[in-house]
Formats: sequence, C-alpha cells, structure tokens
Amino acid sequence: MSRGEALWYLQGIDLALADAGKRLLAARAQVGETPALQEARQSVSDGEERLRQLRTEVRSAELELSSLDAKITEVGGRLYGGRVTNPKELASLQQDLHLLKHKQGELEDGVLQTMTEIEEQEVALASQRQTLQAVEADWNASQKTLAAAIGELEAQFRALSAQRTAALNGVSAEDFGAYDEIRRRKGGQAVARLQGDHCESCHVEVPPAKKQRVRAQAELVLCDACGRILYAG
Ligand SMILES: [Zn+2]
Repeated sequence: MSRGEALWYLQGIDLALADAGKRLLAARAQVGETPALQEARQSVSDGEERLRQLRTEVRSAELELSSLDAKITEVGGRLYGGRVTNPKELASLQQDLHLLKHKQGELEDGVLQTMTEIEEQEVALASQRQTLQAVEADWNASQKTLAAAIGELEAQFRALSAQRTAALNGVSAEDFGAYDEIRRRKGGQAVARLQGDHCESCHVEVPPAKKQRVRAQAELVLCDACGRILYAG
C-alpha cells in the first residue's frame, strides 16, 4: 500500500468513526422517558387526585348531613313534643327547623352533583389509564429498539477502532502528523483523490507534472488549491 493509499484508507475509517460516534451520541440522548409518557402519567395522577378530592367532599357532606339529621329530629321533637308552649319560643323553633331543612336540601343537592362529577371523573380516568397503557407500550418498544441500535453502534465503533489501530501500523509518524494536521483544518477531510485532471475535493485542475508525482507515489503531494494530500486511487 502506498503512503497516499494508506492515508486514504485511514481517512475512510476516521470518517466512519466520526459518523458512528455522532449516531451513538444521538441514540444515547434518546434513552429515557419521553414528554408524551410523562404527560400521560401526569394526567392519570391528576385524575386520581381529583377523584380522591371528590370522594372526600361526599364523605364530609354525608357526615354533615347525618349530624343535621339528628338536629332536625331534636328541634322537631321540641316543636311538636307539646312541652314548649310559649308562642315566641315555638315560632323560633319553627324558624330553626326551617333553616335546618333548607341547609339539608342544599347539602343533598351538593352531594348529588358531586356524585355525578365522580361518575364523569371515573370515565375520564379510565380513558386516561388506557392512553397511558398505550403510550407505555409504545415507549417500551421504542426503548428496546433503541437499546439494540445502541448495542450495534457500540460494536461498530469498537470494530472501527480496532481497524484504525491496525491501519495506523501502515502509516509513518511523519505522514500521520501531516494527515492529522490537515484533517483538523479541513473538517476531517485531509486526503483528496485525483479525479481525472482535478482534485476531487476542491475541483481545481492539477498540473500534469504534479499529477505525475502523485501517480509515482514516492512522496506526499499536496493540492495547490486546497492543501489536501492528493491520492491517485
Ligand atoms: Zn484540492
């Protein structure tokens, strides 16, 4: 393998390594919970919380209703029991009873309304749970695919790294120094092939004498226009 060819081969591996590395980072960045999953889970937990609140409201209204019931029985007993005869006192008891019954009616209406809301909330929650299940299933499947892709990319990366080590054995320290320096300046592309009379990278024509030297492969020849190492592949 000529010096130019060895560098061309090394460049192929380096470009593939950079690409694999970029894809590996992108794949790893996708590991973890998605916003869709977090939203679906949040909406189930909000729905459950709302349902708990509504059930607590009903329980406390029912407690209030039962103590109200006892009070109504008591006031009614005094009003109709015959022991109170003072008309003013009777009128006041009647007024109390009226207020208590009004309060009772309001509370009962409230309980009915909350019960209806509970039923609606249960329906909504069931559908939110179904959505969460579907989103979770999708997410699990995509994370599995992702893990497999990451495994493949890691294997690819390891194989390319081994190839690079082997390829470096065929490159002198001096040639590698030149390659590495040009590669840094030229966005990873240090070696350009001759395409007919032109440099493949910058498309500028290479003079015949220089072309001759590139073909002879005895030295590293740089393109006058872009400064890359020319290789007659
Ligand atoms: Zn060039």
